[in-house]
Amino acid sequence: MLGEIKGLNEECGIFGVWGHPDSAQLTYYGLHALQHRGQEGAGIVTTDGGQLKLAKGHGLINEVFSENQLEDLQGHASIGHVRYATAGDGGYENIQPLLFRSQTGGLALAHNGNLVNAQALKNQLEGQGSILQTTSDTEVVAHLIKRARHLPLEQAITEALSMIKGAYAFLLMTEDRMFVANDPRGLRPLSLGHLGGSWVVSSETCAFDIVGATYEREIDPGEMLVISDDGIDSIRFSAPIQRTLCSMEYVYFSRPDSNVDGKNVHASRKRMGKTLAEEAPVDADVVTGVPDSSISAAIGYAEASGIPYELGLIKNRYVGRTFIQPSQELREQGVKMKLSAVRGIVEGKKVVMVDDSIVRGTTSRRIVKMLKEAGAAEVHVRIASPPIKNPCYYGIDTSNSGELIAANHSLQEMEEQIGADSLAFLSTEGLNESIYQGEESLRHGGCMACFTGNYPTEIYPNTMHPYEKA
Ligand code: SF4
Repeated sequence: MLGEIKGLNEECGIFGVWGHPDSAQLTYYGLHALQHRGQEGAGIVTTDGGQLKLAKGHGLINEVFSENQLEDLQGHASIGHVRYATAGDGGYENIQPLLFRSQTGGLALAHNGNLVNAQALKNQLEGQGSILQTTSDTEVVAHLIKRARHLPLEQAITEALSMIKGAYAFLLMTEDRMFVANDPRGLRPLSLGHLGGSWVVSSETCAFDIVGATYEREIDPGEMLVISDDGIDSIRFSAPIQRTLCSMEYVYFSRPDSNVDGKNVHASRKRMGKTLAEEAPVDADVVTGVPDSSISAAIGYAEASGIPYELGLIKNRYVGRTFIQPSQELREQGVKMKLSAVRGIVEGKKVVMVDDSIVRGTTSRRIVKMLKEAGAAEVHVRIASPPIKNPCYYGIDTSNSGELIAANHSLQEMEEQIGADSLAFLSTEGLNESIYQGEESLRHGGCMACFTGNYPTEIYPNTMHPYEKA
């Protein structure tokens, strides 16, 4: 993953288990498979039927949890979270799951996404006397649920969900029940699986494979599952509307071995590369992809164009964890540490360099330079998604508009800035077709707002990009 140097970061990943004696260990492994979705912090909450227990901390999964800690998290059900800090700040109190205790029992919450009306709701709650402990938008949901405490818990949760707007995949857990909810447009991915008689829930299906679980189905937009020792129930808290799943899950975020909404990510990326080759052909000797997320699209481009795919760029797998690097200079150093051009492959060649996206342009410029320094005669950059011109309000850090190269420059200017011999992007139609392959149904078509500016939900006047809030 080059997210931390590209300026393109998924906010979170969530994983839950109900009905397994080793639920905390399974959640640990599940979160490990979702580590690419957040590296800043992680947490697990477990229930043994009588008490909720929490362990969380800053860092990668294996830095946060020791064996002893996991053994202390005894219980038959767990929810877990990996976090990239955008909404709110990176403080310990914002690491999820958030756990609230009251006389009537505990409530744990893990959230993937971003609420566009969180600020308005915070103002309202504080005006009514609530004291918020975190700067995270997720806490708002706990307060809304508590405010509806006169209702049965299921109803209090659906009441709270009806008040929030934006993108959310939620795992909530009390001592004796787990609630799994997807927003009415299903912007973030969320799947259900089973492991023997246990239920598992994950942001991505790759985590099911790691723990040996079998995929069951997607959590539908506007659906909430209630899981307990008595079984599983499905509640609709919103009328079905067209799903607008985040297209960037296919382009970049999800792991290639995941199936998102039933479609394999690697296969989707290959189709993006193939369509890109048809839309933007070029006379070249080799095709290479920027590891890891662009390899699938590069293979697709090579297959469709008949130009051989080669490993012109390799990733140094043993570079330690690099934190979000604040300055451009440091970001550029990060690229150098992580990637190398293979001189023996690219020297004297006309190279097609396929990348999944361009955010600030600094990464592309570095890689083009690296290929030329390794002797490439020409470097033609082909991007397997449309230009990112708009910020995301739904939980992805696509940087603010001022930093997005495509929001501020023409194609020719971008080509010059990154030093490419030519530059072309996949069209929005090409991306849609590559993902959905002409599917005609209610589920057809994903969110493409960062490319088109057509946001699938209302954007409130005070909605800020999470990156700007931090
Ligand atoms: S705006 Fe872009 S990154 Fe955000 S949800 Fe939509 S497609 Fe995904």
